[in-house]
Amino acid sequence: MHITALAGGIGGSRFLVGLRAALADDLPDAQITVIGNTGDDIWIHGLRVCPDLDTVMYTLGGGISAERGWGREDETFTVREELAAYGVEPTWFGLGDRDIATHLIRTQSLAAGYTLTEVTAALCERWQPGVRLLPMTDGRTETHVVVDDPTGATAPDGTPLRTALHFQEWWIRYRAQLPAHEFVLVGADQATPGPDVIDAITGADVVLLPPSNPVVSIGTILQVPGIADAVRSTPAPVVGVSPIVGDAPVRGMADACLRAIGVETSATGVALHYGARTEGGLVDAWVIDTVDAERTAEIDAAGIRCIVAPTMMTDEAASAALARVCLEAARTP
Ligand code: GDP
Ligand code: CA
Repeated sequence: MHITALAGGIGGSRFLVGLRAALADDLPDAQITVIGNTGDDIWIHGLRVCPDLDTVMYTLGGGISAERGWGREDETFTVREELAAYGVEPTWFGLGDRDIATHLIRTQSLAAGYTLTEVTAALCERWQPGVRLLPMTDGRTETHVVVDDPTGATAPDGTPLRTALHFQEWWIRYRAQLPAHEFVLVGADQATPGPDVIDAITGADVVLLPPSNPVVSIGTILQVPGIADAVRSTPAPVVGVSPIVGDAPVRGMADACLRAIGVETSATGVALHYGARTEGGLVDAWVIDTVDAERTAEIDAAGIRCIVAPTMMTDEAASAALARVCLEAARTP
């Protein structure tokens, strides 16, 4: 049994912890492949940082900060304080001392000619996440966000000038408060899926879309040429979970992302955005939270089988129960 999931950071990781636990009990021979988002990747102080890959690796490896949901537990920030004392930018990105070791190894290995897929596998030797973690691409792709220039600069006719910020600057520094006009995955046109990424989707028994951000996590992975087509055409059932509960993101600022691409922030909005596979879309079944139960009929009407279940991943048991709902949905024709 091969299960392949597309994942961003926190939402994806919490789901994967539950999926791994559910399979350990029910199907111990099952293998999980995770296709990770690298659109969030960024150079900081000369280091290559891959926030979503690391969130998956640290969460499944037991090294994540439970309090923050990203970065390492028992973290200190001495290097960041020293950099700030020198007055070097950027100061808004929190690199912890333990975390820096990961980025040093990654940066050195990439410079030595290893691919991101190889480097990620090497880092996972330590963390033993219990899944095969594949970056969506080994190419350099970065999500940029088109906004009105934050300095307020305007053209001679008074219209605001637009500028593109790295996704991390928009998300962390500006807390997604600058209205986004567009998300652009820079480098997407030249990117190719990482080795095994397409096979992991087309050769899977089940494909899952965890409750990750539909625009800047799953949406980014789907922009790598070939990946969305693989999800559309795989013989495996594709089951997704809504990251939107009660018309709001559970955490983070997915509403700002959905607004920018003209999608309603609701369990239905995201389902229709992915679309029914029978209509050339991406999902066969869609799990929504019990609080959104009244949305069932409209999702079913779009050709997507709607399943109502508790989707709040408050602990491993809750995540495992949600994963079991998805696996059951995949078994039901
Ligand atoms: P990020 O890369 O760290 O932002 O994480 P992801 O993209 O993987 O996941 C972010 C999304 O997960 C957000 O849109 C949240 O609404 C959603 N999310 C987080 N926790 C939960 C949860 O417990 N239940 C559900 N249904 N969605 C969640
Ligand atoms: Ca992310």
